[in-house]
Amino acid sequence: MNKSDSQKKGKLFVITAPSGAGKTTMRNYLLENNPDLYFSVSATTRQPRPEEVIHKDYHFMTQEKYNNHLNNNNFLEHAEVFGNYYGTLKQPILERLEKGIDVLLDVDTKGAKQVKQKISEAILIFIEPPSMEELERRLRSRGTESEEVICKRLREAEFEMAQRDFFDYRVVNDVLEDARKEIGNILSPREI
Ligand code: ADP
Ligand code: 5GP
Repeated sequence: MNKSDSQKKGKLFVITAPSGAGKTTMRNYLLENNPDLYFSVSATTRQPRPEEVIHKDYHFMTQEKYNNHLNNNNFLEHAEVFGNYYGTLKQPILERLEKGIDVLLDVDTKGAKQVKQKISEAILIFIEPPSMEELERRLRSRGTESEEVICKRLREAEFEMAQRDFFDYRVVNDVLEDARKEIGNILSPREI
């Protein structure tokens, strides 16, 4: 191994999107197709959903434990999202990047901006819906949220969409196959 190989750091990819735009769909696709990519499991004070696996989907924790992490400066970024608290634990990510392993974060837009402030080389990808009507249709058809929550997420989506120019890449998730190709190419650019 030459000197430049030993110094090569991993890349930090951050995907963000209005709720319902297809972030989870894209994230799962990227993880299935990039077995060496490390997914950063976030801490949250939210209750687990029935299908969620503890420490795989999230590190579910009490507000007290979350506050301890916050006070000990353990988070790379953190935010309140729809009434719950979320944070990205710094240490596992920095360790991977140092070893040359690429890392994927799935965070809200506030968190993505904090990451960019701290790690300017982070690559921010904003997934957008083809239209607000389609976003609403997807949120309703997923059937995981109440009417009140859907309305709240749609209002928040307007605000998030207004900030989309801030991000390094924007991927419109209209035809799923096209969006998958586009995001896949951001992570592993094809040789021309
Ligand atoms: P998010 O994680 O951003 O909230 P999801 O990945 O859960 O969004 O997607 C929201 C809903 O839209 C899901 O039911 C998903 O299957 C569906 N969906 C995702 N991408 C597309 C697409 N390109 N066309 C149609 N439906 C989609
Ligand atoms: P959910 O609770 O539906 O899984 O996620 C709600 C929102 O919180 C999504 O926008 C998701 O990207 C965001 N989120 C998940 N983990 C984190 C995190 O560690 N930090 C921040 N800022 N947002 C997160």
